[in-house]
Amino acid sequence: MKMETLRDLLVHNLKDLYSAENQLTKALPKMAKAATNPELKKGFETHLSETQGQIERLDRVLKAMGETHGGVKCKGMEGLIAEGAEAIEEEAAKEVRDAALIGAAQKVEHYEISGYGTAIAYAELLGEADAVTLLRESLDEEEATDKKLSALAEGTVNSAAAALVA
Ligand code: FE
Ligand code: FE
Repeated sequence: MKMETLRDLLVHNLKDLYSAENQLTKALPKMAKAATNPELKKGFETHLSETQGQIERLDRVLKAMGETHGGVKCKGMEGLIAEGAEAIEEEAAKEVRDAALIGAAQKVEHYEISGYGTAIAYAELLGEADAVTLLRESLDEEEATDKKLSALAEGTVNSAAAALVA
């Protein structure tokens, strides 16, 4: 796609985020299934439904800009999901797997936080006020998810893994 203006770059980034979120809707159920800690499992399920809402927001933003969601594949998310899949497939004690799943999920959230932050900055400059509002809602969800994962790791999951002896 052409990349002559900041608007072009914003559209590209929105399509990239759309692809990232879409890939995540396929990965999160696998992460939920692999998680043993009930709070972690529930957290992944909750974030799946949030992610579906984020896809709808991106769709709305792109449509309002007269654009469609296709044509871009987010390779960054593809890589992060591939790493997460290793955490699922590798033979591991369940406490250690939960810790690894949280680590993988937080990489994903940080990647998304970065993506939304950049898109919001461009949308603000371009006067796309509705886009800013919608993208901020998604950014808030990503940040809240990241915080919940930290609390779960620091409060329970990491210490359960640390208590294991080989
Ligand atoms: Fe997301
Ligand atoms: Fe997320």
